[in-house]
Amino acid sequence: MDHFLYRDGQLYAEDVPVAEIAAAVGTPVYVYSTATLLRHFRLFDEALAWGPHLVCYAMKAASNQAILKTLAEAGAGMDVVSGGEYARARAAGVPGERIVFSGVGKTREEIRTALEGGIRQFNIESEPEMRVISEVASAMGVVAPVTVRVNPDVDARTHAKIATGKSENKFGIPIAKARAVYAEAAALPGLKVIGIDVHIGSQLTELEPFAMAYRKVAELTEALRADGHEISRLDLGGGLGIPYTRSNEAPPLPVEYGAMIERELGHLGCEIEIEPGRLIAGNAGILVSEVIYLKEGEGRNFLILDAAMNDLIRPAMYEAHHDIVPVIEPEAGAEQAAFDIVGPVCESGDTFAKGRMMPALGAGDLVAFRSAGAYGAVMSSEYNTRALIPEVLVKGDQFAVIRRRPSFEEIINRDSLPEWL
Ligand SMILES: *Cc1c(COP(=O)(O)O)cnc(C)c1O
Repeated sequence: MDHFLYRDGQLYAEDVPVAEIAAAVGTPVYVYSTATLLRHFRLFDEALAWGPHLVCYAMKAASNQAILKTLAEAGAGMDVVSGGEYARARAAGVPGERIVFSGVGKTREEIRTALEGGIRQFNIESEPEMRVISEVASAMGVVAPVTVRVNPDVDARTHAKIATGKSENKFGIPIAKARAVYAEAAALPGLKVIGIDVHIGSQLTELEPFAMAYRKVAELTEALRADGHEISRLDLGGGLGIPYTRSNEAPPLPVEYGAMIERELGHLGCEIEIEPGRLIAGNAGILVSEVIYLKEGEGRNFLILDAAMNDLIRPAMYEAHHDIVPVIEPEAGAEQAAFDIVGPVCESGDTFAKGRMMPALGAGDLVAFRSAGAYGAVMSSEYNTRALIPEVLVKGDQFAVIRRRPSFEEIINRDSLPEWL
């Protein structure tokens, strides 16, 4: 459920007409709903209410400061994967003890920054990284709380580019090697082992792959405890999928996910941590765009939008589907026709949808891409020197620009010329 609904013949974001935002801010523009963000965070929080837990929002999904602050004030922790994200989380007021540091390539500088600023835990992804974290912590005279990310070798049955839990993926330590790695971790002076971490991929649409991975984590917990390690926290990653189409997809609900976690892991008495990104932000954001031209081609008609692949790369990168709806609600039973919906970038890859059935649309009409809140704005670029597009946050009947569109001058002035030119 989200808060982008038709009312009185037009699309609203909560209590604000989307067309009003487009008129005030220009298009293309990302629009987020506060109520939807909070609703999704709370669904997870309640799904884990059977025991001690922390929902750490995977902020790589959408990392605007206003989004982070909204979630942080509701009690969310943050899962960060870079020094930049760590800085963003801290700037949004998230205390270090609610920040988890994931990612396969943490640099010494990033590790030092997190240890200085405070960190809940590092999720270790390799043995060399483990040694470096210990070294950096020891040199600072502190001890770093850590989990080891294990790779359970299960098939997440999702798109290959976002599957992370198979042995061929670059993530984590093979679960079969885990006991040896934990033994080394326990012996390193700068580390305190507190738990286990696992994350098998993104946009999972069934619970079974999670359950298979978590069963392996349960076995490992017992084995590590028998080896004398104190395992008190299980970080179970993110990855629960969202419905990208209104019609046929029905991924499991957070409440079902939480119940499955209790079944598989509840008996271990561990604090549970999860790192959802997409499910919190995905359906909390839309991308609003204007039709520039209706181009009638041979045997196909193109809707050329002012949004392009640089603004929303998911269709080009993951063959992702986004529902695209007119901002003015079509009449019931309005005739539909097939359109190829494309952006202005000079690449055939700049295609959002092919043969998509849409009601009659023409130049000047607004459309909204649904489910664009996660991995949308954060993956945008200035390819074709198209300015990063603005982001707007809605709350009830209010809206605010939370990232403004830069001017061309600002973009150009980020470059500098060498003295010989
Ligand atoms: C990307 C990622 C997540 C979030 O995944 P979603 O599918 O957005 O929930 C969580 N944890 C880690 C380690 C990740 O890399």
